Amino acid sequence: MGAINLLGLAKRVKAKILQASTSEIYGDPMVQPQPEEYWGNVNPIGPRACYDEGKRCAETLFMSYYHQNNVKIKIARIFNTYGPRMSPQDGRVISNFIMQALTGEDLTVYGTGLQTRSFMFVDDLIEALILLMNTNDNFTGPLNIGNPIEISMLDLAKKIIRTTNSKSKIVYCHLPEDDPTQRKPDIKLAQETLNGWEPKIAFNKGLELTVNYFKELILKKQIE
Ligand code: UDP
Repeated sequence: MGAINLLGLAKRVKAKILQASTSEIYGDPMVQPQPEEYWGNVNPIGPRACYDEGKRCAETLFMSYYHQNNVKIKIARIFNTYGPRMSPQDGRVISNFIMQALTGEDLTVYGTGLQTRSFMFVDDLIEALILLMNTNDNFTGPLNIGNPIEISMLDLAKKIIRTTNSKSKIVYCHLPEDDPTQRKPDIKLAQETLNGWEPKIAFNKGLELTVNYFKELILKKQIE
């Protein structure tokens, strides 16, 4: 409904409009890495379906407003992103692991931890989104925006324990239903379309900046 309302507004005032879509539209992908032409592998009735299908439906609406009403649209398929100012409570893996490591709690690896994700630092995403908004009006996307360097959740947990010099241990917890086993963006189209854009912030550097952010957050809470 939000997408329909904003597309209607964009049509009326002739604004350019960006959809922050997601790698989740590929579901549990059968193709590795995922190019934009891949239609995905989504369970339409699973616990993640409202999000996945909601985003897929929004992409459909954006394309229809483009074709039927000439609305200037851009669709960005954003892969896992992290960085300072993430919420410590949103349940995503990087914020969970860093908070757990900094407070001496066990790191909760879901399933075997062999599932992978590819993490992009927030500044790289913002740069790509600005470049995307400045592309020619004929270019609508969808466009993958992500960092193709892949890591398993178990290796991520170990890395965060090392980075924070934490004494925390790893515990294995129940794997959520339909949790994708692999996810890695094919960013060829982004590099071609966005003047050679590619992620610049190395994972170690991005992690350090994010750990520092969470350290400050914990310190502030202790002072309050
Ligand atoms: N995950 C984990 N421990 C946590 C939180 C998440 O092992 O405390 C796993 C989760 O099962 C998934 C991966 O980390 O395989 C990424 O989860 P997140 O929710 O950050 O992103 P998404 O699944 O949407 O890619």
